[in-house]
Formats: sequence, C-alpha cells, structure tokens
Amino acid sequence: MTDANPSRLLFVNYHYIRDPSAYAFPGIHSLSMGDFRAQVEWLGARFHFATPEEVEGFALDGKPLARPSVFITFDDGLVDHWEATREVLDPLGIRAGFFVCSRPGVEGRILSVHKVHWLRSHTEPKAFAAEFFSHVPDDLRPRADAPWLQRARGAYVYDTEEVAQLKYALNFVLPSALVDDITSAMMAARGIDERDFCRMTYMGEGALRGLVDRGHVLGVHGHTHEPFSRLGDELFREVRINHDFLAQASGRPPRWVSYPYGRKDAIPSDDALDRLFSEFGFRLGLTLLGTWNDGTQDRRRLCRVNTNDAEAASAAVETR
Ligand SMILES: [Zn+2]
Repeated sequence: MTDANPSRLLFVNYHYIRDPSAYAFPGIHSLSMGDFRAQVEWLGARFHFATPEEVEGFALDGKPLARPSVFITFDDGLVDHWEATREVLDPLGIRAGFFVCSRPGVEGRILSVHKVHWLRSHTEPKAFAAEFFSHVPDDLRPRADAPWLQRARGAYVYDTEEVAQLKYALNFVLPSALVDDITSAMMAARGIDERDFCRMTYMGEGALRGLVDRGHVLGVHGHTHEPFSRLGDELFREVRINHDFLAQASGRPPRWVSYPYGRKDAIPSDDALDRLFSEFGFRLGLTLLGTWNDGTQDRRRLCRVNTNDAEAASAAVETR
C-alpha cells in the first residue's frame, strides 16, 4: 500500500444494517451489525478514516490527504444507522455522514421505496408482482422494449433481470403517486399503521441532533426519495422541506447532499445543480457512481461505492 496515491478518498455507503435472517423473501438487502463491524475494521486496518473537515478540505480546496482515506455514509435516515453508529463508529471515534429524507418525520408517512422493500421481503416475489400490477391501470403498464430493459439493467446492477425490471418500473417509470397509493393500500391490507412504522423505522429529531452533537454530518436526500432528475421544478420545494427539517432538527443547515438512487439518470442536469447549490448553499454532492475520488471530480458529483463494492474498490488501490 505504500506506493498508493495518498490523495484518494473513498466514500462507502450503507442502507439497512439489521439481521438479514428476519425476512422470508428478498427485498431488504441488509448487512448484519456483525458484518458492518467487520467491514469497518477491515477498512480501518488499511485506510485512514477521514473527518468531515478533511473531506471538505480535499473535495473543495484540493488539500492533500496524508494517506488513502475512507468516509462512511448512510442514506435514507433509518434508525439502523443510529444503532450502528452507537455500537460501532462512536466507540472507534469514526465520524460519518447521514443523508436523511424528511417525509417520515414531517408527515408520518413511510417512504415509498421502503414500503416496496418491506412488502417484497414479506411477500413471495411472483405474488408481490401480481398483487402490485393488479392495481396498475392497463395504459400505464411498462412496455419493456429493448432500450427500457437496458436502462433497467443499468439502474440495478446488483439485481436479477426480473427484479431489476420490477424496481425500475416502480422507482423510475410509473407515476410515483400511483406507486405510493398502491403500496399504502398493500401495507394497510397487512394491518400496518404508517405512523407506528415510521416511529420504529426512522431516526427522530433526538437521534439526528445527537449525531450532529457528536461531530457527524447530516445531509439532504430529498423529502420523498424520488429521483431528483424526475422532479422538475418540484425539486426545489422538495429540497426546501428536507433542508428545513434537518436545519430545525439539528440546529444547523445541511451543507451536503446525496442524490436518491445516485446513478447517472437520477442526478439532475448541470443547470439544475447550479441552481440547487446556490439556493441552498450546498458544498458537495454524492452520487453512487462508484470509485475513488482523486481530487479531479466535480464537487457536486463525487463518486461513492455501495458497501458490497467497498472491498473490491479498496483492493484496486492497495495493489496500485
Ligand atoms: Zn436512498
């Protein structure tokens, strides 16, 4: 590792951190707390954990890092992240970034994406697709031609073709209000109360403030978790609610943003990013276009990898 380029920064992102055996079917792809701890220790044995100040120094001002460095992030605002931080990161003195959606806290409504995950993890896959699409009007069902199939594959590289198509239709193609309504009806049919579910699933204001008090960073991830590229002018209202919720919860305005889904077609245009960054005073934006950052990246489109790619990305630097 001694000959590696020292000025390199890898963002590693996490979603669910909970017992994977709690779910009968695929849908919630979680890492157990033990596996999270093991990966953090594995990364810590090889790299420096950057502080938020070092991240900003490197990404905004080109300040070199003493050695290859990692920064951990969590998307969506799940209570899992609070537990993982209390159990693993805080005792090791590692600071992280938390990108939090605001609809659960502001409206007591579950994010659509999490309703889909929960329903899929509790419903046999074919039964889920049949039940879901039985609620979709004929004229809105996806045509699934070749370019469409290719986009679906590109958006969900970790999934099988069938699952990639389902998730692409749900998250990028069907009207989001329709997906929201159908999944709410499916949750209600299973006796789930959305407010109770939100209280058990997402970090509340006390947890968010606690994170900031201990030196972690909160960032914007949208009010509803819809891809920013799909929102048009609604994007600014969406980000305003999310921004104000986090400013109020933590006592300071968020300066970082991560784009829901994080892949190319989920990121807004240059023009929209210019307006977004100037209106909200954002300093940096994180994608899921995964690799190391070497200081040449646009600060609005920094690269980041998912937990399942972290070790491969790390090995690429170790062997340089
Ligand atoms: Zn997300």
